[in-house]
Parts: sequence; structure tokens; C-alpha cells
Amino acid sequence: MKNIKLAMPSLKDARMRKNKVIPTIRYQVEEQYKEIGKNKTYAIFTYGCQGNEADSEIMAGILEEIGYTKSNDPMNSDLVILNTCAIRENAEQRIWGVLGQLKGKKRENPDMLIGISGCMPQEENATNKILESYNFIDLVIGTHNKNHLPELLKQAYMSQSKVVEVISSEGEILEDTPKVRESKHKAWVNIMYGCDEFCTYCIVPYTRGRERSRAKEDIIKEVKELVALGYKEVTLLGQNVNAYGKDLKDNYTFGDLLYDLDKTGIKRIRYTTSHPKDLDEKTMQAMHDCKSVMPQLHLPVQSGDDEILKRMNRKYTYDEYMSKVNRLRELVPDIALTTDIIVGFPNETKEQFENTIKLVQNARFEGAFTFIYSKREGTPAANMPDEITDSEKHQRLEELNAYINAGYLKGHQRFLNQVVEVLVDGPSKNGEGMMCGYTPHLKLTHFKCEDLSFVGRIVRVRITEAKTWFMIGELCE
Ligand code: SF4
Repeated sequence: MKNIKLAMPSLKDARMRKNKVIPTIRYQVEEQYKEIGKNKTYAIFTYGCQGNEADSEIMAGILEEIGYTKSNDPMNSDLVILNTCAIRENAEQRIWGVLGQLKGKKRENPDMLIGISGCMPQEENATNKILESYNFIDLVIGTHNKNHLPELLKQAYMSQSKVVEVISSEGEILEDTPKVRESKHKAWVNIMYGCDEFCTYCIVPYTRGRERSRAKEDIIKEVKELVALGYKEVTLLGQNVNAYGKDLKDNYTFGDLLYDLDKTGIKRIRYTTSHPKDLDEKTMQAMHDCKSVMPQLHLPVQSGDDEILKRMNRKYTYDEYMSKVNRLRELVPDIALTTDIIVGFPNETKEQFENTIKLVQNARFEGAFTFIYSKREGTPAANMPDEITDSEKHQRLEELNAYINAGYLKGHQRFLNQVVEVLVDGPSKNGEGMMCGYTPHLKLTHFKCEDLSFVGRIVRVRITEAKTWFMIGELCE
């Protein structure tokens, strides 16, 4: 197959942070593309973070605007897009596996179009591998050019060639895109894109580009529209939401945004991901003052050892992290804190690992995503010597998880016999006749109820059982 290479990824370009103004463009589909998907079905498989989930909702919106309908049989759709994640090696391995299955489907139906989008194509190695060994993929598109989807699809249909467009330096801020939201009561709201932190283990600053914030007016307008549509909860998204507004240089910060969004009438506001270095007093005050900002925070610490934190380029120490935790607990005493932790960072000693355990105990986390360090080509940590054995890394992960799981359980036990408010998501997988949803502290709660009209409502539930991963309760009304 001939390739149309409109743009190829470059880690070198992706590393650059140019001081140019990022334009905002208002998305509008051109007339010529409006019927590309007529009588065709689509499916999007989403991997990785909430940012990818939000991107998939935008791609679905664009596809439906140009005539596609969502498929009931995803693996046999006319168009299949894998929206990929590059954060860890095993996420990528899973995606290569799904691509293997799609190869067989394409053999049965040669008219099927297969696309790959998201963070993987932004990596030079991954895109080169696709070009060399994955001939059946028709479209390769990066994270910065979703708005070109109609045009790229047209090219792929017309030329029968593989179309590759992966832009390495960030593009515009895209507004007014159509979206097909997965939920009718909870919504993702991007407030900024990209990351300037360059933690030494992380590929995201290369795949997502420079930090760029949406205008506050556009964010507030989006949340007001969601309120008018009956949405109860928004999760504000960004790789480092606490850096919101820095690039706009008008002294309007993330804390200011929380105060303004609290006035929109939305019932629940959450945000992710936070960087401890940028979590400031105003944001913590907003968590105390704003009724809609939920008493829950995911604050990735990654390690409890100062030397490792330095080598990770996290720009805070154990003490600085703990002083933010303590301040949060002063302002929001019942806050539920969760975190991310990497074990087995190159040459992490046993003593350094023990410092992480000490921090976990002092911070009283009620949950964590814990990982063994995964080497990402092109990042500084990939070149750091590492002599720790795999079995030692697995042993440390197991030890850490025992503390974390105890934290999950304690986090649920503290609500025993209390009445909590649950935003109902839908039928529970925890048994016939059960529904489930989340409390303000983001605790998954199951309760007996068969009435589907409860979906999207906030109901009162008395907690009767606390398990490690969830709570069980009885409806109070
Ligand atoms: S803050 Fe660090 S870990 Fe998070 S996306 Fe940016 S570089 Fe990656």
C-alpha cells in the first residue's frame, strides 16, 4: 500500500516549547464532507486516561455529524478507530493485540477502514512500526488534529492509501466541536491541554504538547449548557489542571475558575489530574468554600523519597507534599485523598521505597493507582541505569498494595451507618436488582433498586456494608 504522509511524529519537535500564542479555532464541518459516513457505521475503542475518553466523545461527535452511525457490532463496523494510550508499555501491548484481531476482520471485509489515533501515533517508534508492519491500517492520526478527521477520511476512501498525519508541535485550541457524550448526567470538560512538566519517566509532554488553557468564558459557557441539559457532575480535565491559566498570563488561576464554576448551578465538580507543586492556597480554599467542589482529590505523589522525586523531576519534596496534604485536611477535614505511585524507578533502593511506605501511612490515602516503573523510549529515565530485579519490583508492589488496599477499606468503613448522597449511574454489576453510583467522596456504592428512572438522580443511601472496593447501602427514600 502506498502511504500518504501528511506529517510524521518527531520527538525532537515535540520537546520544543515555543513562546507563540496558541490560536483558538471554532470548529465547523465543511459542506463537502457532510455525507462521507452516510449508511456507514463506526466504533471507537478508547484506551488510557479520561483525556482520551473526552477525545473519543469529540471524534464520535464529528463522525456522526458527517453521517456515520454508532455500530452495534464494534468489531465489524465500517470504520474502527483505536484511540490509544502510550503511558505504559503494557497499554501499548494490549493495543497491538487488538490490531492483530482487526487484521483478520479486514481480511473478511476489505472495505472496512481502520484508524489509530491518540498518543501512540505521536511516538516515532510506534508510527514507524505501523508503517513497516501494519499494512492494513488505513489512517494514523495524532492528538493535535482530530478536527481534520473528515478530510483525512475522505483521502483514505478516495486514494485507498494509508493516510498519516501526526503533528508534533501542538495545534490550535479547538472550540465548538460536536460531542457524543457517554453519560447524560456526568460530563468531562477539558480546561487545558498538554503538559510542560517533563517528569523524567513520562511521555505525555511529547505526545500532548505544550500547556495551553481554554478561555474561561468557553469553559463556563460549556458548564452552563451542561446544567441546562440536566447534567449533575462535571470533571475538569487536564494533564496538570493546577497550571490552568498560566499561559494566558491574565492572573486568572484554577482556583478562580472553581469559584466561577460553582456559580453555574452544577451540583458536583471534580478535577483531575493535579500536580502537587501547582496546587495552590486559592484552590484549596475553593475546595473549602464551594459547595459544588467535591471533598475528594487525586494528588499523584509518585514517590515518598526526596532523591527519587528529584530524579523524577517532580519539583517537590516529601515535606512539601505532606504540608499540602495537611493544609487540605485543615480546610476539608473529611477529604478523601487518592494518589499515583511508581515503584522500582531506576535504581530505587529498599530504603527509598520504605520512604514511600512511610508517606502512604502519613498521608492516609484511600486509594491509589500503583505501577511498576515502565520504560518509555525518548524520556530521560529510559537512559538511567537500573539494577533492581523484576522480582524485587513485584515484591515491592505487593507490599505497597497491601497498605493501599487497607486504605481503600478504611475509606469505606468511615461511612458505615451514615447516609450519603449517591449520583446514580445505572444498574449495578454487583447483583440482580441493584443500582450503583458514586458519593461526593467518589466511593462506589451499590444499593437495592430496580427503578431505572433513578439513573441520573442524586439519592440518599444508608451505608450498611463496607468492602475493599465498594460500599453497599439501602435507599432512604
Ligand atoms: S505532570 Fe509529569 S506525569 Fe503528569 S503528564 Fe506531565 S510530565 Fe507526565
